[in-house]
Amino acid sequence: MFARLLLPRILPSHKLSSCPQGLPASLVRSSAYVGGSWLRSSDSASFPVLDPATGAELLQVDDCGPRECREALKAAAAAFQTWREVPAKERSALLRKWYELMIQNKEDLAKIITAENGKPMKEAVGEIVYAANFLEWFSEEARRIYGDVLSVPMKDRRALVLKQPVGVVTIITPWNFPSAMITRKVGAALAAGCTVIVKPAEDTPLSALALAELAHQAGIPAGVYNVVPCSREKAPAVGKALCTDPLVAKISFTGSTATGKILLRYAADSVKRVSMELGGHAPFIVFDSANVDQAVAGALASKFRNSGQTCVCTNKFLVQEGIHDIFVQKLSELIKKELHVGNGFEEGVTQGPLINEKAVQKVEQHVGDAVSQGARIETGGKRHDLGKNFYEPTLLSNVTTNMLCIQEETFGPLAPVIKFNTEEEAVAIANSANVGLAGYFYSQDPAQIWRVAERLEVGMVGVNEGLISAVECPFGGVKQSGLGREGSKYGIDEYLDIKYVCFGGL
Ligand code: NAD
Repeated sequence: MFARLLLPRILPSHKLSSCPQGLPASLVRSSAYVGGSWLRSSDSASFPVLDPATGAELLQVDDCGPRECREALKAAAAAFQTWREVPAKERSALLRKWYELMIQNKEDLAKIITAENGKPMKEAVGEIVYAANFLEWFSEEARRIYGDVLSVPMKDRRALVLKQPVGVVTIITPWNFPSAMITRKVGAALAAGCTVIVKPAEDTPLSALALAELAHQAGIPAGVYNVVPCSREKAPAVGKALCTDPLVAKISFTGSTATGKILLRYAADSVKRVSMELGGHAPFIVFDSANVDQAVAGALASKFRNSGQTCVCTNKFLVQEGIHDIFVQKLSELIKKELHVGNGFEEGVTQGPLINEKAVQKVEQHVGDAVSQGARIETGGKRHDLGKNFYEPTLLSNVTTNMLCIQEETFGPLAPVIKFNTEEEAVAIANSANVGLAGYFYSQDPAQIWRVAERLEVGMVGVNEGLISAVECPFGGVKQSGLGREGSKYGIDEYLDIKYVCFGGL
């Protein structure tokens, strides 16, 4: 009797009885999505999703545990047997349909992002288009999964190479791009013929569930895309259930390096494939030869997007002596002129709140540490009057490499500037990090451009450009920034196994 009561419950209707004001009831969901149905958590536990701008509770979402994970794993494993056999052209058409629904609903999806993540609506709409583009891109790539015919020295043999889907994939994502971090993985996985279970970040589960509603409407078959939301407290148990189960062939994770290492250990125990998109500490180098106005504009874009909460946001500015003072002066002026802090739903706001108070405390700690060691505040430097999750866009000069903000990822609106003398010195500081995701530099010297682009120990380089992400280009890092690449023509390989078939006796 007890066991029966604890079985997950499939909801008769997926619509919410009441939806937070201003959010689209047609897309807001609060239960897990498993095997094509909306599933309540077995113990009726739930967790709150908060609006980071006001601290108010948006709604309660079902807090899933290992039991719901097991249901999702079984659904994904069963669906894999049929999804892998669906012709690529049909998989492609379904992904395309999903893409079209995202574009049709882009304003509503963006409202959900702004509500749960805080980023300004303009950025949220941009994220939805970027996220949808991954579905479009991989709907096209689905039809270009080619094998090979190899020539071998034995006359009576022929050798073939087949590419086959790896199987069921566990996907764990962060809150800073609640939609795009999901589609970048799911688009590639589904195109390859894999099925997935997504565990979204506890701060932003609504975007993942809205995507499930649209996947349902697009006709993505039951069990192919599953979502299991859970609280931070349950994340370790859910992560373990989803990453150690023998039904799972691959783990794809985006988030902090610390969590990535835990999941890598799970993967090692049962030798699962992995993709890891982890933390960064992007350098932004401005050489004396740079066009200073271009560099300042690039600096603003690369540092303050999403209030500094992206893995490719600049973490440290390195500016050569000859151009240093003018760069700092112009960047300070541009920050004051262009950046407007406020609620992401308000017109003209460019800087929303940080995700939570812990994030604000980290920025405070980094600024306090730097100032206590001699850094100078050029602008900002404290919490914003608007409330506890808002922090002023901040520029620090006179920064040195021993300061916390140069040693750890800040993940907030803090721009620390180090003055340097020679190219070798700048490259050495840039490469001193144990992570290497993105790096940027500004120079008008072609020989220097080649040299530095080749020497920077990162996976992605912006030369005279501060915004580099595009679905067509490979995204990923080196060192402790992770393993594998997402997007681009390479992204689908992460979800394919290579099989060699030898034909003998010919
Ligand atoms: P996080 O590692 O704390 O959380 C990410 C996800 O992991 C969340 O869904 C969380 O619930 C889950 N998680 C946490 N502990 C877990 C556990 N023990 N088992 C299973 N799952 C667990 O990271 P965050 O603070 O949400 O995100 C910020 C980090 O993500 C930054 O370091 C940033 O650089 C990185 N990031 C990297 C990329 C990239 O592509 N390289 C993109 C975005 C963010």
